[in-house]
Amino acid sequence: MALAEIQARIAAATAAAGRPPGSVTLIAVSKVQPADRVAQVLQQGQRVFGENYVQEAAGKWPAWRAQFPGVELHMIGPLQTNKAKQAVELFDAIHTLDRVSLAEKLARLAQSRGACPELFIQVNTGAEPQKAGILPEALDGFLLRVRGLDLAPLGLMCIPPEGADPVPHFRMLAAMAARNGLACLSMGMSGDFEAAIAEGATHVRVGSAIFGARAYAAG
Ligand SMILES: *Cc1c(COP(=O)(O)O)cnc(C)c1O
Repeated sequence: MALAEIQARIAAATAAAGRPPGSVTLIAVSKVQPADRVAQVLQQGQRVFGENYVQEAAGKWPAWRAQFPGVELHMIGPLQTNKAKQAVELFDAIHTLDRVSLAEKLARLAQSRGACPELFIQVNTGAEPQKAGILPEALDGFLLRVRGLDLAPLGLMCIPPEGADPVPHFRMLAAMAARNGLACLSMGMSGDFEAAIAEGATHVRVGSAIFGARAYAAG
């Protein structure tokens, strides 16, 4: 089965990097996948999932959560400020904190709820105009503002440019996290998660390699 194979490859890459077993979390990216494929992976014991769209996740996860205790949901797609309230109620982690207005909204929600999902700051390591994320040179200043709002991000997230060697992007992200005292790195997808683990990824986001190709391109 694809899930077992991906788990084995993660374990091998973790060991090859000289890192402790279990130090990499597999986020199974289930966006736009048919329900039967996701149910199969749940039945095989996978509990950590990634979704890109608040609306889609809100439609399908409450029922699965009731059926499979211990599900952990990670938001990995762009988050509109007007969906932030719904997102913090639904997700255990948000990987796409990418602007001050969203940080301010999340801080207000955290205060009124007394709880906040785990937060990752998305960095646009390739400085691509069409891509979300804080530019690398703006990261340290952004992080100061976020921390000034009493939010405590755990780590950084990136999506390297299509077709480029991802390794320099992974290294850049790891260096930015290290100098800012951030422990977690959300990086690596179906095509490059082993390279990401070699560079220190703590969370890999793997979709198509587990579930098969998505029916339509999404995010
Ligand atoms: C869709 C998506 C993934 C998973 O991509 P695959 O190539 O199918 O593994 C990972 N991260 C983000 C941000 C995504 O949007």
